[in-house]
Amino acid sequence: MKFYLKSMGCKSNQFEGQIVAQNLVKAGFVQVNFEKDADLYILNSCSVTHKSDNEAMYLLRHAHGLGLKTLLTGCIAQIDKEGLLKEDFIDYVFGNEDKFEITKYLNNDTHFAVKDLMGVNEFFEVSLEDTTKTRMSLKIQDGCNNRCAYCIIPFGRGKSRSANPEFIINEINKYVEHGYKEVVLTGIHIGQYESGLLPLLQKIEKETKMPRYRLGSLNPHEITQNLLNFLQTSEKFCPHFHLSLQSACNSTLKRMNRHYTVEHYLEQIEDIVLRFDKPFLGSDIIAGFVGETEDEFQTTVENLKKSKLTQIHTFPYSVRKGTIAEKMEGHLPESVKEKRAKIIKQISADKFQKFLESNLGSEQEVLIEKHKDKQTGLYKGLTRNYVNILMEDGEYNTLKKVKLIKMNGNRIFAK
Ligand code: SF4
Repeated sequence: MKFYLKSMGCKSNQFEGQIVAQNLVKAGFVQVNFEKDADLYILNSCSVTHKSDNEAMYLLRHAHGLGLKTLLTGCIAQIDKEGLLKEDFIDYVFGNEDKFEITKYLNNDTHFAVKDLMGVNEFFEVSLEDTTKTRMSLKIQDGCNNRCAYCIIPFGRGKSRSANPEFIINEINKYVEHGYKEVVLTGIHIGQYESGLLPLLQKIEKETKMPRYRLGSLNPHEITQNLLNFLQTSEKFCPHFHLSLQSACNSTLKRMNRHYTVEHYLEQIEDIVLRFDKPFLGSDIIAGFVGETEDEFQTTVENLKKSKLTQIHTFPYSVRKGTIAEKMEGHLPESVKEKRAKIIKQISADKFQKFLESNLGSEQEVLIEKHKDKQTGLYKGLTRNYVNILMEDGEYNTLKKVKLIKMNGNRIFAK
């Protein structure tokens, strides 16, 4: 059977999609690059917004229309469960851990399996053997114990649970043997890593020869002074932070059930900028959360403008069934949410442009990730501080010191 697989959403879900494909290939299924060549369409879905839900349904309907069998897994499958099988364009539904046993289910013609993750305390260890890339994710944690008012993810992922440190070290060492030069530590909420993120990173630093690592998203209070002290001296850490802010207004944060203040967050960003050389500081902002007044939005805008963030990922608030926010008063019209998201996107674009400019003239270590870029015919690389660069010479999957020399739009050229 030939299958086509698409993963949506976060890095953890992307990583898991690769494992699903790996398992199927090992069991004799053939992975194809175009859905038209497949017998089975697998969608490893994301349920973070309404938009992602709609997109998933569209993709499945489309694949069904092409005559393919369709299999839905990922967060939508985990949250909406057997009800999904009522749709005539969905043939199989498997949950977020059940997806690692898809071959078994397909072989015995099981169409539905969604384990209740709320009762699961053990981390499900999965190993990736793909050796064709330069940079690889490793999932170190799953689930989340928080209940942010807008978020459906804990229902799709269950309680927080963490990979054993020994498992992580072994996996990273395996990646090193395969020639990877960078690992990205991912999870749903890596700041909830059970035995502490700092001891884990210290162990990775000591016990692996991985040249570089990057961290997934962290909440402000998880970035402690001790963690920063360590990262500052680390030889492997790439100064790329993704801070999960969600709003830059205290009253909105309170309604979101996020337990930090904007003042704390802004100070932390200043501190990071002082400690690291041109760190990349990404963040997420939800535009138009329930009850967000014009004044509250303006507060967010002002704070974002004065922050030293590098880039802001924003999207209009999207109501998720079963969340605390669903029942709150004061849902805003779509047009207001869209308009606010557009304003934040512009702030982000300006900041990103300035960040790129500030990198011109600097020397950076890049990991050469692509032989030749299709449009330009140049090599593509990624700096430690998350700047994509293009250059004339290079060798695939090597680390090289380069100078960032010029800019064209958002393209940075190096030599
Ligand atoms: S920290 Fe909040 S936003 Fe993030 S996964 Fe947990 S509940 Fe969702």
